[in-house]
Amino acid sequence: MENNRPETGPAPDMEPVPETEETAEVRTSTEEPVSVTPEEPEQTNAPHEKTPHSDKTHRKKHRRRKRRKESPVLGIINAVLLLLVGLGLAGCAYTGYRYITFSTESYDAQITEMKAQTESVRTDMENLQRKLNEQDEQMRADLHQTGEKGAAAADALSAAQTANEQLLSRNNELKTRVGFLENIRENAVALREEYAGKIRKLEDKIVAGESSVKICYWSFDDGPGQMTGAILDYCEENGIYVTFFTSREANETGRGDVDEPALMRRETMLGHSVQNHSNSHQYSKIAGNLYTRGIDSFKEQVRIQDDWILENTGFKADIFRFPGGSAWAYNLIPKEQLLGALEELGYCHIDWTCDVMDNLHSNPDAGTVYARATWQSKQIDPPIVVMLSHDWNMNTYYGFMRAVPALKEQGFIFLPLFSQSWAIDNTVIRFS
Ligand SMILES: [Zn+2]
Repeated sequence: MENNRPETGPAPDMEPVPETEETAEVRTSTEEPVSVTPEEPEQTNAPHEKTPHSDKTHRKKHRRRKRRKESPVLGIINAVLLLLVGLGLAGCAYTGYRYITFSTESYDAQITEMKAQTESVRTDMENLQRKLNEQDEQMRADLHQTGEKGAAAADALSAAQTANEQLLSRNNELKTRVGFLENIRENAVALREEYAGKIRKLEDKIVAGESSVKICYWSFDDGPGQMTGAILDYCEENGIYVTFFTSREANETGRGDVDEPALMRRETMLGHSVQNHSNSHQYSKIAGNLYTRGIDSFKEQVRIQDDWILENTGFKADIFRFPGGSAWAYNLIPKEQLLGALEELGYCHIDWTCDVMDNLHSNPDAGTVYARATWQSKQIDPPIVVMLSHDWNMNTYYGFMRAVPALKEQGFIFLPLFSQSWAIDNTVIRFS
């Protein structure tokens, strides 16, 4: 402490003056007790004061003059300094200095408090920094994860786009295909019309004697039946075409478990003619619903079969064959009614010229079927044969396979029967 430095030559008669309100106020106004710097006391041992004055009077005057110059504050400070010299740090025992000590302690307390607050703030800052670091780590993790997800999403998007392009391409292919399929029935009907027209031209040449070709319209009635698949296989292998007069309910017990719609589709796909032989096929005089219940019942049985053929083959049939033959039907319902009903349903009709007579009662063996087919065909002139048989009969199947090569040797070709055929209007039953 600067003001605690020992002073040289303090006046021995200067007594400490008790602290007054004035001095306390002066010190109180000084925040830094250490900065309270008293006025420098005059040098009592100045050289010019030593020389001529040696008597008591002069010393007393000088003493009084000197005392008048000193302020009370300086006196107090000098007293304090004197005490400090004597007591060292015993200043705390002095009333005036106790205030300074108290202020220092207060300051220290404030410093301590500030240090504590600083420590608290530092702790808070450290906590905040740690939280920030944690958040930063989390954000980096999130960012990384987002990046990975983003990359995965980009890959998925790319794959989806590729798949979408493939689907669009496939969709366009399918649209083209659908466009083709939507018109396939019209195209197929047109092709069949063209095909039938060419056959009709050939027939006309045959009838006119301008062609040596013979035509066999081999027909199978009452199917599809248990031999239909085998017959189709044989026809496919040998490049021949036949006609099926189908009936949904005919010969049901003899069919087995054949898939009738599938067989009818295959008949159509292989180029054969699929035609109408009525739904019920019940042509008996007593219990049948074809001819004994009136024209409406007959018409309904034709219509049901017509729907079934169209549903399963895509082609509308237009040739009807009367179960039992037209002559049998005309005996039960007037011919005009029957033909009128058929015309309303879009049908012509046909019987046959030749008949292998493969009914259940006689059930000829294959050789007999073969012999009848080949022999009867020779009797038809012009040589446009309509052969009657049934595709539920196994003997017929074997007889058919023997007859085909033989008929080919006779000059016959096997064609499907269409409504444009010359045979429709010119077929007369020769064998039955
Ligand atoms: Zn029949």
